[in-house]
Amino acid sequence: MNAPRRVRTSAAVLPADGRRQNLSLVLQTLRRLGPSSRAQLAREVGVTKVTMSDLVAELISEGRVRDAGTAAQQGPGKPATLVDLDPAGLLTVAVDLSVPARLQAAVVDITGEMLHLEVREAAVDTESGRGVDPGVVVELVRSVLATAPHPVLGIGIGTPGVVDARGSVRTAPNLGWTDVALHDLVSDATGLPVLVTNDSDAATQAELSSSPGSEDLVLVQVGRGVGCGIVSGGRRVVGAHHAAGEIGHVTVGTDVGEPCSCGRRGCLETWLSVPRLRAALDAADPDDVVTVGGRRLAVALAPLVAALDLSEVVLAGPPELLEPLVPVVADGLSERLLPSPDGPLVVRLATHPDDIVLRGAAALVLWDRLGVV
Ligand SMILES: [Zn+2]
Repeated sequence: MNAPRRVRTSAAVLPADGRRQNLSLVLQTLRRLGPSSRAQLAREVGVTKVTMSDLVAELISEGRVRDAGTAAQQGPGKPATLVDLDPAGLLTVAVDLSVPARLQAAVVDITGEMLHLEVREAAVDTESGRGVDPGVVVELVRSVLATAPHPVLGIGIGTPGVVDARGSVRTAPNLGWTDVALHDLVSDATGLPVLVTNDSDAATQAELSSSPGSEDLVLVQVGRGVGCGIVSGGRRVVGAHHAAGEIGHVTVGTDVGEPCSCGRRGCLETWLSVPRLRAALDAADPDDVVTVGGRRLAVALAPLVAALDLSEVVLAGPPELLEPLVPVVADGLSERLLPSPDGPLVVRLATHPDDIVLRGAAALVLWDRLGVV
């Protein structure tokens, strides 16, 4: 079995001991196979049947696993009893702060299904420059948490900007935030484990979960701003200041460009954020907007793709805005890069672009709490 892959965003909380690791493997195997007998699980995980019975008993007592009837009779003897994941014991609350003017949170089960979604309108006050009130995020989390039918494992938050190892948002111009202790605010209010991560990290985790085999890619998350998650050799690149992938405020081109929320001009996201793309499409020829935005993105990505020898560029965001960008970015990159002997670079949309940050934030909690990818 391949080693589990995850986006490493901070000091990793790995299963502390062999037993925890085996419990994670049982959950992982059930996720892959569906209802299974203890004997089958013992073979897959590589432990004795006695050990497996013991592991399953612990997971049943924790409410993570439940009985699932008996297998169809396949020979003489007693039919095997089956066990399966118990979605009620594997709930998370996921929060997405990356959508323009909108904060959203959901209760998510282990299959990725959203049991309850709530939204709050919230934007930076353009007149006063006052940022989004972090208290609204806390209120939203409390409200969603109150709807969870069973206790949740933890809270995952995907936010734009730079997030440090303690879960504080160091800087997020698109929310008007500097040094907001988001982890502590939400953790103090709920008493639950909280994982705060950059929205592109969350989206990248969601893509890795749904696209096995991708080991060297850059995922460009286009939302309130632009950021990316870089995966090299199956591992997320973190960087010296937890800011790897923050390409949104790189100036692209030698022309001056439009003013940006960071106070400078000509940053990539002045061409490519969702609000900028929508406004430009309303005001101008759509083909021009797509061509200019796509080419600027190719300029920003080419050195990254070449330096890390990446094989895929994945665009995540509203598909109706990003689909026309795919061929423009592909052409722009192929003009700038030496052709690879193994065929052209893959440029594509994310596998499941809808709710990618929410699903990724939930997936990170499952990994963090249970070691389940
Ligand atoms: Zn900027």
